[in-house]
Amino acid sequence: MTIPKEQASAASEAVLDKIAAIVGPNHVLTGAKEMQPHLKELRDRYHGKAAAIVLPGSTAEVSEVMKIAHKEKIPVVPQSGNTGLVGGQVPFDTGEEIVLSLKRLNQIRAIDTSSNTMTVEAGCILETIQTAAQDAGRLFPLSLGAEGSCMIGGNIATNAGGTAVLAYGNTRELTLGLEVVLADGRIWDGLRALRKDNTGYDLKDLFIGSEGTLGIVTAAIIKLFPLPRAKATALIAMPTPADALELLGMARDAVGPALTAFEFIPRIGLDFVINHAPAVRDPFNEDHPWYVLMEFSSGVEDSLDEIMETILAAGYEAGHISDAVPAKSEADSIAFWRIRMLMSEVQRHEGGSIKHDIAVPVAKVPQFIREATALVQELVPGCRPVPFGHLGDGNVHFNISQPVGADKQDFLAQWERVADAVHKLTLSMGGTISAEHGIGRMKRDLLAQTKSKVEMDMMRAVKKALDPKGILNPGKVL
Ligand SMILES: Cc1cc2nc3c(=O)[nH]c(=O)nc-3n(C[C@H](O)[C@H](O)[C@H](O)COP(=O)(O)OP(=O)(O)OC[C@H]3O[C@@H](n4cnc5c(N)ncnc54)[C@H](O)[C@@H]3O)c2cc1C
Repeated sequence: MTIPKEQASAASEAVLDKIAAIVGPNHVLTGAKEMQPHLKELRDRYHGKAAAIVLPGSTAEVSEVMKIAHKEKIPVVPQSGNTGLVGGQVPFDTGEEIVLSLKRLNQIRAIDTSSNTMTVEAGCILETIQTAAQDAGRLFPLSLGAEGSCMIGGNIATNAGGTAVLAYGNTRELTLGLEVVLADGRIWDGLRALRKDNTGYDLKDLFIGSEGTLGIVTAAIIKLFPLPRAKATALIAMPTPADALELLGMARDAVGPALTAFEFIPRIGLDFVINHAPAVRDPFNEDHPWYVLMEFSSGVEDSLDEIMETILAAGYEAGHISDAVPAKSEADSIAFWRIRMLMSEVQRHEGGSIKHDIAVPVAKVPQFIREATALVQELVPGCRPVPFGHLGDGNVHFNISQPVGADKQDFLAQWERVADAVHKLTLSMGGTISAEHGIGRMKRDLLAQTKSKVEMDMMRAVKKALDPKGILNPGKVL
């Protein structure tokens, strides 16, 4: 897939000189070696070329760069932490685009503990924000496996989900205000810290999840929460995903909003972590088919450990739990979370992996796992499904590792065929083909197949209105 020719015009040396005059010559990278990290993504699935990597140091500089790009019709690919999983942040191979990296915009502008808000620039690393919130006695709950390198601008542009959506919502629900540079370089100052604001269309929500196709997020006001005073975590073994669903219901009935995580892991996933990550041991004495990492947390000093014990006993009694290991210390809790957070990373050691980021209504997750597993095993005999993820959100990362000993490329060549079958099943169950990773370039064609003409028309109209020359991340999403 390439950028439609009439939209693109390569950044000439003269244009790059003008850009260098704005951001400083050291912040326009054109050498092959220095550009390299920005031209491919973590999974090495998408590679591209670029005229330059441009690193502005302020919102004003982003604005000036965009004015030039707009005038000269130069396509721009916004990039933050480059951890996106659908290729949205990677340029195509035309070499005409400039990659606009936000990583120098990395200041925390303000923390307001009375309003429970933080004003952050787009290039702040998520983990830095979490730590700053904690230092101020607050919680910023967005949490995901890439938190050590993904940046809040990327989180906002992808409406990232993660492990705390169950209790706190996804990035959209954590964002109060935005500062955005538009395609023509104008700055929209929407940095409002309001919890209520019904004045016209919610423009902020348009940019959240737009994957760099409507504007460049340069700063945001995000919500903070009280730090939990009590927490209880357990790793729980069970016979089937249906048992996990029953346990989810029991936990919700018992603790309501104090249920802050409910993540599921299959045995094969735990095996991968034990085999490939240093210093991980199986917390159980025996193998079990499925595990759930369940966490309760509360802003008041609650006896959550006792409640956890009661629920575990009830789950055991009802036959939904085979074994459970409650965390006895913060170190135990960290060790359990480490297993969960390593699930994506360890799969690459097992050869090729065909990945899906789907969601179905929560009640249908067990049926989905059953049917999708049978489907892919029929399509690729010997393949090894590793479904894991955010059960409480109905979000299954239905990843499939290659058969043992198979040729990686032969296996990956079946991606489209397998994904087509998995996505058809997902849609037949009222689900979505992208729960949290977005569309990018990976699922662009699929989007048009899964949305109605009316929805596609509305999205194209919004794109046309905000980016009439089609210079913002062309060929992504739409
Ligand atoms: C190990 C691992 C675990 C992950 N777990 C999760 C998970 O649990 N939940 C989840 O939702 N995602 C997850 N992801 C995916 C990824 O981390 C998220 O999508 C993240 O939000 C991307 O942030 P980033 O800073 O890396 O953005 P990038 O990868 O740089 O960009 C992502 C997209 O946003 C656009 N963009 C970036 N910055 C801006 C900006 N400032 N303005 C406008 N557009 C911009 C890019 O053009 C691109 O389309 C995971 C990834 C990895 C590698």
